Parts: sequence; C-alpha cells; structure tokens
Amino acid sequence: MIPYGRQNISAEDIAAVTAVLQSDCLTQGPQVPLFEQKICEFTSAKYAVAANSATSMLHLACLALGVGDGDYVWTSPITFVASANCALYCGGKIDFVDVDRHTGNMCPKALQSKLKQAKAQNRLPKVLIPVHMAGHSCDMQAIWQLAQAYGVRVIEDASHGIGGSYLDSKIGACKYSDITIFSFHPVKIITTAEGGVATTNNPDLAESMQLLRSHGITKTPEKMLRPEEGDWYYEQHELGFNYRMTELQAALGNSQIKRLSSFVEQRNKLAAAYLIELAKLNITCVVPLDNSYSAYHLMIVVLPEHIDRKAVFDAMRAANIFVHVHYFPVHLQPYYLNKGFAEHDFPEAEYFYQHCLTLPLYPDLTEQEQGYILDTLTGLL
Ligand SMILES: *Cc1c(COP(=O)(O)O)cnc(C)c1O
Repeated sequence: MIPYGRQNISAEDIAAVTAVLQSDCLTQGPQVPLFEQKICEFTSAKYAVAANSATSMLHLACLALGVGDGDYVWTSPITFVASANCALYCGGKIDFVDVDRHTGNMCPKALQSKLKQAKAQNRLPKVLIPVHMAGHSCDMQAIWQLAQAYGVRVIEDASHGIGGSYLDSKIGACKYSDITIFSFHPVKIITTAEGGVATTNNPDLAESMQLLRSHGITKTPEKMLRPEEGDWYYEQHELGFNYRMTELQAALGNSQIKRLSSFVEQRNKLAAAYLIELAKLNITCVVPLDNSYSAYHLMIVVLPEHIDRKAVFDAMRAANIFVHVHYFPVHLQPYYLNKGFAEHDFPEAEYFYQHCLTLPLYPDLTEQEQGYILDTLTGLL
C-alpha cells in the first residue's frame, strides 16, 4: 500500500532519541528549549512554546488570548476537528467562516460579510483561527486587516504549514497573526511522534502558554508570592495542565528539523510533477497563492462534478493507493450537528468536501510510485 503521507526517520534521528534515553532527563531537560530555539531561528518568531500536541497548543493559545465562557471563536469548516474543539475546551462557542471552493482555505470575502453582520448583532468573535490547508497559506494579509479592523485576535492553524512562507516571511513568523500553531504528528512535515509548537512575538502570550503547559506552576522567584520559602518551592498561579513535550520527542524534532527544508523541497518537486500530469487530465489541483511557498503537506485535487469521487476513491484504494479525503466538514460532524449546525450552512466547504481527493505525497514517494498513482487515476477518469 502506498500511504497518503509518511514520516522519514533516519539513523541520525534514532541515535538522537536513543542518546536521550541513556541520559539523565527523559522530560524537562535541555532538548525542549533547544527545539523551541530552533523553531524560532527557522521561523524568525521571537518565542516558541512546545507541547505534547498541536491540539494542546491550540487549547493554550485560545486560553492565552482570553477565550472564556460564551466567547466566540471562528474557524474554517474544512479542517481537522481540533481547530474547532479548542474553543469549546475553554468554554467558548464555535462558528465557521466558509472557504473558497478552489483552495479549501478561509475566504476573506465570506469573513468580511460575516464580521459585518456579527458586529451589527454585537456578537463578534474574540479569536479567528484560519487554517493553512495542505500547507498553502491563507490570504493572511486580507484576514489580518479585517481582524485588526474588528478587534479580533488571530491564531494561524499551520499544522500543515511548517517550512512554507507567505509574502516575505516564513509561516510561523506571526507577521499577520498573534500566534501560529504547528503539528508534528507523523503525517505532517516533520515529526516528534506526537507534538506541537506555538510561535508568537508577544512575550505575555508566550509566558501565559508556558505557564499553562505545566500546571500553571512557576519556579521564577521574581514572580512568587513567597520567594523566600526555599529551593524546593514552586507556586501555582493558574489552572494549568500537563501538556509538556518529552525530551525524546524534542530530540527527534531537533534531528528532524535539520532536514525540514529538504523535505519541503522534495514535496514541492513531487507536487510540481503531479501538477504537470494532472493538467493533461484536466484535473484541477489545490495550489498555493502566487506570493507564497507551500510546505505541501497534502496533494489535493478537486475532481470535476461529473466524476463519482467515491468510486475513484474505492478503486484507488483497491489498487493499493491509500488516497484520502481532507476533510469532512467539521460543522457536519454529529457532535456539531447536535450544537445546531446543519447541511447547507457552509455551501462552499460542502462543495469542496464532495469533490476533493488527497493523493499520496511525502518525501520518500518514488517517481515509479507517482507514475503508478497517475496511471491508475488516468484509467479511472
Ligand atoms: C493534525 C492537525 C491538528 C492536530 O494536530 P495534533 O498534533 O495531532 O494534535 C490540528 N489542526 C490541523 C489542521 C491538523 O491537520
């Protein structure tokens, strides 16, 4: 079976993790701060906070931005459920902004009219979470401008996006957002097995996320109520969590990040080959904005309306090609239907879902495998 995505683990990665296992610190050692520093260097963000998953970091980012009881958070319906769930963890409410049917990314026009309406009804969201589908940046300049105009904070869900750039900055530089989140799940661009990082340029947001990641506990004497207590002493200042990343995970990340640029180059090379061949078949692909460089987490095609997506999907799977569909719209998940969302609420997202198909794309995909995938698809159209 050719998977749709797969991690690349080198002998050096294995040695890095093994070295940590033989060291004194399996958690709360030097590897996590080093990983955070490397993420800062790569993205040019001022601060990076690592945790055990992107989901955890989305939760902490919402908390740091003050999402609480009854506050609205808006995200895209075309995303993994975690982009929406994070608001509910904080007691907030979720709503969605429809996407552009050609990209699956949040549509600035839809955002503009929804903000206008929400303002008139006095129910503006506190936080907006655009998602860079497939690693292709949203139109962040337009989104950030609108968010600023309406006083809404922005978290970029860049779970797909590390290694990409938009205009003149790396994804994660937070030039057009308050916080950016990356995921290091094995199907993503680089992996720590499980893991996530938030980047920000705001020291208060960074400090808040650091505190919440580890029980809301501080060991900084200047912050303490009773600093004279002794060296054993720590203070809890907030209701935090244990969302810490382990040293094993961070060591894997520190080793993987050395190959981040080459992974992304290889993904772009394979994507370019797909684009040339799929154009010959008149198949539309989801492509990045002109002024951006994508990490190309996913190769998504939008099949013509007359083609039965399910039949193509089943036939590809039968041919040992593990194609996928990203994503079933979040508002149509039974959990969210129970919250009052319904079919036709976000028609562009529903259109995108009906016709999209994810083809295998990962650095180790061979030309032969790619040829087989394209030949199989051609035979089905
Ligand atoms: C993978 C993913 C997440 C969650 O990441 P984890 O690290 O698995 O928690 C969130 N949002 C999007 C868009 C994702 O693809």
